[in-house]
Amino acid sequence: DCMRSLVLVGHGSHLNSESAAAVYRYAELIRSRGLFDEVVEGYWKEEPSLRQVLKTCTYTDVTIIPMFISEGYFTETVIPREMGLGHQGAVPREGVARSLGGRTVRYTLPYGVHPAMTEVILERAREVLPDAGGDDTALIIIGHGTTRNENSNKVVHQNAELLRQRGIFSEVHALFLDEEPKVTGWREKVHAKRVVMVPFFASEGWHTLETIPEDLDLEGTVTVFSSQIEAGQAEGAPEGAGEQTVYYGKPVGTHPAVADVIVQLAEEARGASLVGGDRQSDHRAAWDVFMNLARGGLRMGEIMVTPHGGLFEVRHALDEGRSSETLTTLVTPDGLRDHTRLTESGEHRPVHTLRNLRRGWRAVLSEEDLPRAIHTLYPAVVEEGYACQTHALRSTPWPTTARRQTGIYGKVQQATPAQVEHVAEEVCGGCLKTRVWAGQRLNQTFFGGVPGAIPCAEACTFLVAEIREEVAGKRGQAGG
Ligand code: SF4
Repeated sequence: DCMRSLVLVGHGSHLNSESAAAVYRYAELIRSRGLFDEVVEGYWKEEPSLRQVLKTCTYTDVTIIPMFISEGYFTETVIPREMGLGHQGAVPREGVARSLGGRTVRYTLPYGVHPAMTEVILERAREVLPDAGGDDTALIIIGHGTTRNENSNKVVHQNAELLRQRGIFSEVHALFLDEEPKVTGWREKVHAKRVVMVPFFASEGWHTLETIPEDLDLEGTVTVFSSQIEAGQAEGAPEGAGEQTVYYGKPVGTHPAVADVIVQLAEEARGASLVGGDRQSDHRAAWDVFMNLARGGLRMGEIMVTPHGGLFEVRHALDEGRSSETLTTLVTPDGLRDHTRLTESGEHRPVHTLRNLRRGWRAVLSEEDLPRAIHTLYPAVVEEGYACQTHALRSTPWPTTARRQTGIYGKVQQATPAQVEHVAEEVCGGCLKTRVWAGQRLNQTFFGGVPGAIPCAEACTFLVAEIREEVAGKRGQAGG
């Protein structure tokens, strides 16, 4: 048998719950096609975290796809380092393969550099201008340019060159927000009457909705048709003599065809070795014990799991005894995830064990869906809780975590032990986890019947970011 786990890795955010949404959507799309036995997500700045996500993979055959539009600091430095891949720097075409903790792990290039993205650019162009092409139509691919974190210029130039060779458009240009040739100078370069612009960005955000249209100074002299505003607007476009009409497309990164690109990447990374995986033994042991406990009813963190005629009901432990009619009933792991992503007051929850799980819901789940639902609520807690319960948990002391940091987080190496303790007391004080990484002891876990006993094996990125603020003297100003 060939059981495989696919891991989609995104940036995530400590502040904004929408940051992870695109990765969630692709994971759902690929899951629904049933091509992989499991699709999990991992993020740098929220949970499931990069440090934990491999532990949460059910199978021994794992493929990791960075959900980034270009190569750069995240794909070459942060992700391989945080995931312990023993690789730094440019990733070769065929990807990187490693044997880690009883798993065969493959790490690929980001989806944005895959050759199939050229077709996605064309699709985006045709969405906003169905007959895009011909003597009077120019295509502009808009890139970010090289920043500290991205080298998107290379892939944008490559795509422009490929599309130029195909001769579909009278002109093809690669223009950038932050470097030459700049998108602000488009009028001097582009002569065609119809101009299709496609942003080579991962998502719809500040850049595609505000910065670009502003940089282009589109108002007045040209007519803009944007698929973001209304797809049907392009019909009956007034094309006055001497005027140029701009058709502004959606970013490539949100096109559904990206899901096909991801699947292709995973297949290519696998190459000729059709080994396939089995269930990973530590993972299986933890979940087998967990499911046995769940069949008799169990409490962990802020939740309680109750068996219910072949199904399981999960709810907030403080909602115990409330009649079901007064609670919102959820029936899928994804529904549960969406419902519990924010606190009661609408705040983002980058760390799921912070004691702020909202109340007022119940999830009714099959035996098959329960593990993913629990993973959604408390990522990696079953794996790490079981390791702790069986004295097999490996923790990472603060100095090791600090030494690993680079970029803007390199600063945390300057934090004194007193500063680390001070910030941790505040931040971790609101968290269910016990700081095993700081020497705190945990002799029992929820596996042993103590619901709130959950180990923290190493400082999370949320705490690292807070310690950085402390070192920079900025902590407390923005409310922590
Ligand atoms: Fe919780 Fe602190 Fe561990 Fe982060 S470092 S998961 S806040 S205990």
